[in-house]
Amino acid sequence: MKKNPPGQRGAQSGISTSTNTLSTKKKPPKAHRKTPEIPAEELFERLDRLYPEAGTALHYTTPFELLVAVVLSAQCTDARVNLVTPALFARFPSPAEMAKASPDDIEPFIRSCGLFRNKAKNLAALSREIAASFGGIVPQRRSELVKLPGVGVKTAGVVSMHLSGEPAFPVDTHVQRLAVRLGLSRESTPEKTEKILEKLFAPERWIRMHHLLIWHGRNTCSAIRPDCPNCGIRDLCPKIGVAPKSTAKGS
Ligand code: SF4
Repeated sequence: MKKNPPGQRGAQSGISTSTNTLSTKKKPPKAHRKTPEIPAEELFERLDRLYPEAGTALHYTTPFELLVAVVLSAQCTDARVNLVTPALFARFPSPAEMAKASPDDIEPFIRSCGLFRNKAKNLAALSREIAASFGGIVPQRRSELVKLPGVGVKTAGVVSMHLSGEPAFPVDTHVQRLAVRLGLSRESTPEKTEKILEKLFAPERWIRMHHLLIWHGRNTCSAIRPDCPNCGIRDLCPKIGVAPKSTAKGS
């Protein structure tokens, strides 16, 4: 009778099969493969010193205004959002007022923001939902916010962390780009990167680090021309995926 080679013996003996497979094809745990190449705590402290003023640049005075501003900020600069919101908020100061509006009523106020048709539709729909299901009060929990029309995981995280202080590490385009360049994440989706960042930093750091990465992304580590020669954390950064020619000209 032909003998099984070592390690395959269990393949014919039921329960022990998985044990043998695991022991012979042992992969490093996923978390180990994603170990950062730079010390997360030092990175936090350095960015914290570089950008003491880091925080949201959106202007708002109520939870509803914050929600609307964050929805509008998708694919639009905060500065542009701040230009359009004063008139929008004056005309529609609450979910109840905006719930009565049609997308056509909202569009003229936000026309200069990207994707304005879609955003107008979502703002009208989310206002109706807040009026119908939340008594006209903007919910504060991420798990509730994410149920509103046009409110994705990132938007819900941003709004919730500002309204309730609920720890969240929303990953926008800046956070995703920097997480990869800094060697913190090898993932290409914001959802997966968020999970990794949440493991690397203590929950009390999440909100602040979210803002710090956004500010560094806007000020120095831009998508097209990161200013590596003048970057305040260049000694910590492995510059993953950054081509030498792409760095800022003349700096
Ligand atoms: S060294 Fe370059 S790639 Fe790294 S964070 Fe600074 S600007 Fe970005």
